[in-house]
Amino acid sequence: LTILGIESSCDETAAAVVRARAEGGVARGPGQILSNAVFGQEDLHAAFGGVVPEIAARAHAERLDLVVRRALEEAGIGLGAVDAVAVTSGPGLIGGVLSGVMAAKGIALGAGKPLIGVNHLEGHALTPRLSDGVDYPYLLLLASGGHCQLIAVERLGSYLRLGSTIDDAPGEAFDKVAKMLGLGFPGGPEVERRAAEGDAARFEFPRPLMDRPGADMSFSGLKTAVLRARDRLAEGQGGLYRRDVADLCAGFQAAVAEVLASKAARAMRAFRDRYPGLAQPVIALAGGVAANTSLRAGLDAAARAEGFAAIAPPLRLCTDNAAMIAWAGAEHLLAGEHPGAVSARPRWPLDAGAAPLIGSGK
Ligand code: ATP
Ligand code: MG
Ligand code: FE
Repeated sequence: LTILGIESSCDETAAAVVRARAEGGVARGPGQILSNAVFGQEDLHAAFGGVVPEIAARAHAERLDLVVRRALEEAGIGLGAVDAVAVTSGPGLIGGVLSGVMAAKGIALGAGKPLIGVNHLEGHALTPRLSDGVDYPYLLLLASGGHCQLIAVERLGSYLRLGSTIDDAPGEAFDKVAKMLGLGFPGGPEVERRAAEGDAARFEFPRPLMDRPGADMSFSGLKTAVLRARDRLAEGQGGLYRRDVADLCAGFQAAVAEVLASKAARAMRAFRDRYPGLAQPVIALAGGVAANTSLRAGLDAAARAEGFAAIAPPLRLCTDNAAMIAWAGAEHLLAGEHPGAVSARPRWPLDAGAAPLIGSGK
């Protein structure tokens, strides 16, 4: 099955061609990525310190044709050789999702191909199958600019949320801390660079919800604590030195790493209780925040301690891309599902509102 994927739910305009096969009605990874074209919009949003929905929607509308052409070219095939089109139909910024859905409808209709609407979060959730051929079930930590969830991926279409952030996503916190320290947007990579020069022990930042049972997380108070420390310093000495910025970044990053690792460890225990028979349980990372080396190291250590294998797909598959959308579409088609009408859904939780599974503290 050869699928053209299209993604435009946030600030990446992306198209990809992926080939997938099935065994016994279940898609079997890894998938073959024939192309994976991504046009970023960082330059358009940098001046505003965040994604501006109207600018994003317009840029998507302008670039979708081009990115699809690029993806087909790089794959070396024409539309005729594609079996189906998959498009992100939510959740996300509604203008961008609509641009993508309309473009995909046009392409599918014109070429006489079936069209399938894909949940963006499901795309992230199934990425470890596309990249590494991970089998169901597995545990996923999705940490991005807009999301933070620990999910048991049980099988196609069955996602149990074990924990999630109750306020900001970690990428959002990285971006806000970068902004308050004058480090530009997106902030994650620069905060990580500065943190490498810093002393994580200088500031005592909170570890929110650590003493609470369950795997829910919170990053908003941490961000406020960084802001207060910054203001105290600026008042006391009339400004910030490079050293101060580095120490603030290091302290902040260490707090995020500790929270993620400890909550992931709790989710691993809950996952193991649910699937006691698994010889080698897997925790996989997804989302742009997975790029952070020290967060990865913390999670690796937690996974080792819990007897889990930690898998991190290559970065270009962790951040927003269309290969994951093509793959998720392929999984549904290979499972024999018939695509229905596709409409844009700004809100679309993966687990359809299920209550968190973890109740007891461990
Ligand atoms: P979503 O996928 O949830 O809709 P998004 O598109 O903003 O949101 P991604 O593209 O997956 O998310 O990731 C971008 C986020 O990752 C940004 O918030 C960015 O600051 C963060 N990020 C990127 N690199 C790093 C890093 N090295 N350390 C920490 N955060 C990082
Ligand atoms: Mg992005
Ligand atoms: Fe995303």
